[in-house]
Amino acid sequence: MEIKNELSPLTMWKAIVTCDATYDTRFLYAVKTTGIFCRPSCKSRNPKFDNTVFFIVIEEAFGNGFRPCKRCRPDLLSEKYDPQADIVEQAVTIINMDYTQTIHLKDLAQRVGVSPFHLNRIFKSKIGCTPHMYLEKIRMEKAYQVGYGSLSSFYKNFRKRVNCSPKEHRAKVQ
Ligand SMILES: [Zn+2]
Repeated sequence: MEIKNELSPLTMWKAIVTCDATYDTRFLYAVKTTGIFCRPSCKSRNPKFDNTVFFIVIEEAFGNGFRPCKRCRPDLLSEKYDPQADIVEQAVTIINMDYTQTIHLKDLAQRVGVSPFHLNRIFKSKIGCTPHMYLEKIRMEKAYQVGYGSLSSFYKNFRKRVNCSPKEHRAKVQ
């Protein structure tokens, strides 16, 4: 469940507060309340930490439904048009919408128009993990967001809802 990111939330938060442009190519941040994402150096008002989400790649920000800030234009940081980025963004969007359902890699790949092998490979190169691992990460995050609070209650609820343990469920997703 490791997403490619060697920066800690605290480091990223400090970069945002100090508008540190040296971090502009290393991560992006989005504000849940506005739906906008920015470069760390953006001069707009600092968000509340609790409302801030960090993204390492722009595809993830787009895939989560955030729009680029008109002021700092984080979308201009990514070079030319990249068809792979487009595919990864679509896959992230689908996972974020359908994370409560069983998502087969085969179907996901078909929906974004590439082979499962290819999707795994480009997803890994952009996001740093496979679509399957990303799905697991999203499930965990959403579970925490709805306030299970602890892992054990999350697992209990998970079992109740899908009628199997997360481990068995994971096997189905593959
Ligand atoms: Zn901005």
